[in-house]
Amino acid sequence: MGAMIERVGGPAVRIPAGKLLINGQWCDGAEGRMIAVYDPATEEKIGDLVAASAADVDRAVQAAHRTFESTHWQKMRPLDRGRLLEKLALLIERDAEELARLETLDNGKPFGVSRNVDMKFAIDALRYYSGWSSKMAGEYIQLSPFFDDGGTYRAYTERRPVGVVGGITPWNFPLGQAVQKLAPAIAFGCTVVLKPSEDASLTTLRLGELILEAGIPEGAINIVTGYGYEAGQALVDHPLVRKIAFTGSTFTGQKILATSARHMKRVTLELGGKSPTIILADADLDRAIPGAANAIFPNSGQVCTAGSRLLIEASIFDEVTKGVAQIARGLKLGSGFDPLVQLGPLISSRQLNRVSELVSTGIKDGAEPLCGGGQVVGKGYFYQPTVLTGGRSDMQIAREEVFGPVVLAMPVQNAGDIKALANDTEYGLGASIWTRDINKAHLLAAQLDCGTVWINTHNVLDLAMPFGGTKMSGLGREFGTEVIHAYTEPRAVCMRL
Ligand code: NAD
Repeated sequence: MGAMIERVGGPAVRIPAGKLLINGQWCDGAEGRMIAVYDPATEEKIGDLVAASAADVDRAVQAAHRTFESTHWQKMRPLDRGRLLEKLALLIERDAEELARLETLDNGKPFGVSRNVDMKFAIDALRYYSGWSSKMAGEYIQLSPFFDDGGTYRAYTERRPVGVVGGITPWNFPLGQAVQKLAPAIAFGCTVVLKPSEDASLTTLRLGELILEAGIPEGAINIVTGYGYEAGQALVDHPLVRKIAFTGSTFTGQKILATSARHMKRVTLELGGKSPTIILADADLDRAIPGAANAIFPNSGQVCTAGSRLLIEASIFDEVTKGVAQIARGLKLGSGFDPLVQLGPLISSRQLNRVSELVSTGIKDGAEPLCGGGQVVGKGYFYQPTVLTGGRSDMQIAREEVFGPVVLAMPVQNAGDIKALANDTEYGLGASIWTRDINKAHLLAAQLDCGTVWINTHNVLDLAMPFGGTKMSGLGREFGTEVIHAYTEPRAVCMRL
């Protein structure tokens, strides 16, 4: 199903058909409206997606609900749900090269990254959550009732799946994010409707083919493509959806939280960031300078935890900024299918314009580009890796998430200054501290208001480590032992003996 695309200078890639996956069947949208898909590196049209309507979303949610309620699903052994995830992991492993090519075509990221980061993450995540399926343990509790009726009271808790989960994902790690939503949901006995980003849905559709091949029961995982304001909104507003697992912008997260209140839906929100990379004067600069570049430029800066504010102790400011700019100038931009390319395009012309405007305003406000600072002339949505200095914390460029290969460097004077500047943001996703003094690192880590602090590294995510943000960066956590709370409800059963 789908069409082959032949590309000059690139491999042939099969584009999945623009369909919806509902109740184990591929189908068209009820209204026949489609969304054109473009290769962000060439601006060529490469396919079409269904623009699902609220009626399509309703069909998908009803299917997920029927499956959730079915005896077959309710009685399935937890270990067998885990085995389904393991099967899906094997199929992704089998087709990893093909999936990675499709991800590169649709999203623009270098093929090596698609293959070695995105596909590997998806496979690991399925295996990690597969193991969780058999670990839904409750507690046995001895009670101390406030009255004495001569009885002995005990209670136990069991963890129950929340029900139908709506998984809404962004475009920066499309397949990985889809798996990140569906795998814990299935492991804990929920069913799912996935709504991938309209800017990058192709690998999620290809995943749909593997979901059918893996023998996952019909209706357990449904996929609806479409616009956020239409299909996404309909999913969030549907009374049978009991939980929304969302990754995306803070703006959309706020809307989802407000809409979810109507039906008191559970939500996990993984949102934006403005994470600081903090380099102290005693840092090992041979590691810290490449570390700072690596915190911002991979995936063309389209990473929620990107180290987009570079806070450097004043005595080493010039050396560090010059070093990061030198690395930035040496990065090769281009088609993700060129093995020498390190940075692909941004996802869309909209995103390219947004990054350009934010940088132009930053420069008008007084920031100075040490390198980059503009779009790349020609086809494709490319933006130059950019290092800005001369910034202040009150500038728009220091406060808003850019989501592009742009870092703003600011000098800091002392420990109090560092803490104040690092926390002077409405976001709270991540931060990294670079120093040789491990005591200093831990003392500073304890003062940073964010979900993850890295020491002498940045952007290390691990499925065993909880992930999420404070403040406007989100609500709840994914990964690690926290995940069980995100997809299950405790039920207490109390007895008199
Ligand atoms: P976005 O919020 O525009 O879209 C994300 C998803 O939400 C898409 O599928 C979109 O169709 C859908 N959507 C949009 N409006 C909706 C609505 N009203 N109701 C329901 N769904 C709706 O974000 P984006 O531009 O695709 O992604 C970039 C953002 O994602 C950045 O802000 C980035 O920081 C964030 N992000 C966060 C994490 C994290 O884990 N914290 C990871 C990756 C990306």
